[in-house]
Amino acid sequence: MKYDVIIVGAGPGGIFAAYELTKLKPQFKVAVFEAGHSLEFRKCPIDGKKIKSCISCKTCSIMSGFGGAGAFSDGKYNITNDFGGTLHEFIGKKEAIELMEYVDHINMQYGGEGTRMYSTAGTHLKKLCLQNKLNLLEAKVRHLGTDKNYIVLKNFYEEIKDKADFFFDCPVTDIKKQEHGFTVIAKNGEHTCTDCIISVGRSGSSWMESLCKKLNIPTKSNRVDIGVRVELPAEIFSTLTDELYESKIVYRTEKFEDNVRTFCMNPNGIVVNENTNGIVTVNGHSFEDPAKKTRNTNFALLVAKHFSEPFKDSNGYAESIARLSNMLGGGVIVQRFGDLIRGRRSTEKRIEENVTVPTLSATPGDLSLVLPKRILDGIIEMIYALDKIAPGTANDDTLLYGVEVKFYNMQVEIDKNLQTKLKGLYVIGDGSGVTHSLSHASASGVFVARKIAEDE
Ligand SMILES: Cc1cc2nc3c(=O)[nH]c(=O)nc-3n(C[C@H](O)[C@H](O)[C@H](O)COP(=O)(O)OP(=O)(O)OC[C@H]3O[C@@H](n4cnc5c(N)ncnc54)[C@H](O)[C@@H]3O)c2cc1C
Repeated sequence: MKYDVIIVGAGPGGIFAAYELTKLKPQFKVAVFEAGHSLEFRKCPIDGKKIKSCISCKTCSIMSGFGGAGAFSDGKYNITNDFGGTLHEFIGKKEAIELMEYVDHINMQYGGEGTRMYSTAGTHLKKLCLQNKLNLLEAKVRHLGTDKNYIVLKNFYEEIKDKADFFFDCPVTDIKKQEHGFTVIAKNGEHTCTDCIISVGRSGSSWMESLCKKLNIPTKSNRVDIGVRVELPAEIFSTLTDELYESKIVYRTEKFEDNVRTFCMNPNGIVVNENTNGIVTVNGHSFEDPAKKTRNTNFALLVAKHFSEPFKDSNGYAESIARLSNMLGGGVIVQRFGDLIRGRRSTEKRIEENVTVPTLSATPGDLSLVLPKRILDGIIEMIYALDKIAPGTANDDTLLYGVEVKFYNMQVEIDKNLQTKLKGLYVIGDGSGVTHSLSHASASGVFVARKIAEDE
């Protein structure tokens, strides 16, 4: 088939590109190729009863399929240039924010209406954080919730499905540069296009890397974030979560001057497994539906590791730490903060007797056997710092799940139009290494769609 534009990957980046393109250029022939399933067939087999932990499905329904890694996420759309990616470095701060606002507007149109927008503007918590060596980053956060997020995606698909050709369970294996445009080789055959938008996210990172090598597109990689997911009674963090929902707080450790930050906060949420290329790590989300809310809040504490030459494989470093936890625990390990501080492992009995009831079935163990000292020390320091603004955080019963890893895709060399050195080949979303969030990835899709429509 011959297309004007082929989009590889139907995560937020890809679907927002498809939406905007088909809106601006209804005459365009657009195709979207997605390695995972369509939305209705996305189902993680873990049910907590028969299947308790990850069985490494051929296609991970959490990470792949229509909606991308974001489909079963908490649907927290952060409108900010302070975190979530560095899109603003390419397209400018003002445009980046405008595009994120636009994405929010579209989400409201397709089912998100009525959900709450939180903001750090004017909050007294900023001062409280600063008084305790904590830095609260500024943002507006739209919380769709896992259930609403799904509805928005469903409605969104209904809107665009007849305007573009969607191919599910259809990974793209290769892209070849032709004199005018590209040949895209997918599971269902070869297709040509004038412009190609690659939006393959985290799950497509290995493929992206090999494609860049083959097409001679420069890449670089040197960062990974490693840490734990903290789970505690929702009341302890309610001062922060009631007002801000998600707060991004950064702490600079005294010992090593490393930055530790909170990440992906889920009031009344659940802790979940995440499988990336067979390695099981931890994540979390929460539901908008009151019936699905739990009594716990969870969030990640992550330490950023930047490596310098000659070491290049930052993801490999984090993967080996995650593998170690998988080796010891058969998956994710859970430990009480009190046990960690006393230098002993948590046991089934201690977890059973714990005041905080875990929302994820994980193996009780000892995180100090998994996490490097420098990272663990940073996490412990930050827990004590958070205890000053949210007393109870450093209680013995606080649960720590490990490991949580935030992998960063290697950064693909792209210009201010998010275009590679090959004219007409764009790389957007998390797969580009430029974005790390729903709002930034979606905004990058809208941006490129508008560029292509403008240039036509
Ligand atoms: C459990 C979880 C919770 C999260 N919660 C939040 C949150 O609350 N807020 C937030 O901002 N971010 C959150 N994130 C991160 C967010 O989901 C991502 O930043 C976002 O989805 C990136 O969008 P993307 O389109 O770039 O990539 P993705 O969403 O990863 O989509 C890429 C798509 O490309 C497909 N693909 C890969 N390779 C190929 C190929 N070769 N051919 C065809 N298709 C391919 C994949 O199957 C996938 O569906 C969460 C992530 C997870 C895993």
